[in-house]
Amino acid sequence: MPWRRTRDPYAIWVAEVLLQQTQVPTALPYYKRFLKRFPTVAALARASDQAVLKVWEGLGYYRRALNLLAAARLVVRDHAGRVPDDPERFARLPGVGRYTCGAVQSIAFGRALAAVDGNAVRVLARWFAIRKPVTDAATHRLLWDLAEALVPPSAPGDWNQAVMELGSTVCTPRTPQCQVCPVRRLCEAAERGIAARLPVKRKRKPIPHIEVGAGIVWRRGKILMCKRPAGKMLAGLWEFPGGKRWPDETIPACIRRELKEECDLDVEVGRHLVDVTHTYSHLKVTLRCYHCRAPRGRVKRLACDDARWVRVDEIPRLPLPAADLRILQALGIDRQTAIRATRNPRRR
Ligand code: SF4
Repeated sequence: MPWRRTRDPYAIWVAEVLLQQTQVPTALPYYKRFLKRFPTVAALARASDQAVLKVWEGLGYYRRALNLLAAARLVVRDHAGRVPDDPERFARLPGVGRYTCGAVQSIAFGRALAAVDGNAVRVLARWFAIRKPVTDAATHRLLWDLAEALVPPSAPGDWNQAVMELGSTVCTPRTPQCQVCPVRRLCEAAERGIAARLPVKRKRKPIPHIEVGAGIVWRRGKILMCKRPAGKMLAGLWEFPGGKRWPDETIPACIRRELKEECDLDVEVGRHLVDVTHTYSHLKVTLRCYHCRAPRGRVKRLACDDARWVRVDEIPRLPLPAADLRILQALGIDRQTAIRATRNPRRR
């Protein structure tokens, strides 16, 4: 993994942010693309939020990208463009929580701080046979205390990465390979034969599933795109406008109401295009998408940060949520075309 072969604190920081809530194989191409586009803190600090969101597009948890951008600007402004090697200062930057701080400071600067991700949680819960739910605040604190007590003053970054990698490769969720594990002789769960039953997790409540009406609103060969408002989920990304269906409301009625509320636009709802279901961490959404026409009327930005009429082939220039990328696909533009179009706008 490229982030294991660098001492550049910025590159390590980018990797650690990407790897939160994202598996390594998914994060890898994003890491390469991100560093190619923004190779230094200064380059990132100069970027627009739209450019950063475009590179992050499809990965989810977009707040991570915007926090990284805000933090890069502060690093340039307050730290002469150098990632602070002081954990307290680093932890004051937007989006830098305990995990990111520990990981970057230990790997890049050799600070003896722990970094506990999901893999490390599993290793520690088994190593010390912790039978309380690991999501409980008290257990979480205990795991961090154990990790802090274990981290060695020499090569703490290697240690943290080793523990996390042990969790991803040997101490795996369903079938821990205790017979080849270097922790075997110390591990209480292996000793008691309870490894596969740990860590204990509380059952998650089922997430709600909502239906959303989305309009592909046409006018003179262009489609209306709206920018999601700051402070809301998916803030800064562009979408086909629409919203949540009310009980007893039909999807066409929902689209008409939403377009009126969001943009003060009267639309005629036509044929169905596609249904797209997307699952977020806390919500499952089915977007029911219909072609619409809005021959007249000025678009007002009542519930969006911006609204534009855009040619279909220009839509890939905008950063879109994953669900809207699939709608774009249904309109005949697939993700690869969209990525190529963004890289070489003149060749489209
Ligand atoms: Fe995990 Fe088994 Fe190693 Fe314990 S001995 S840390 S349970 S793989």
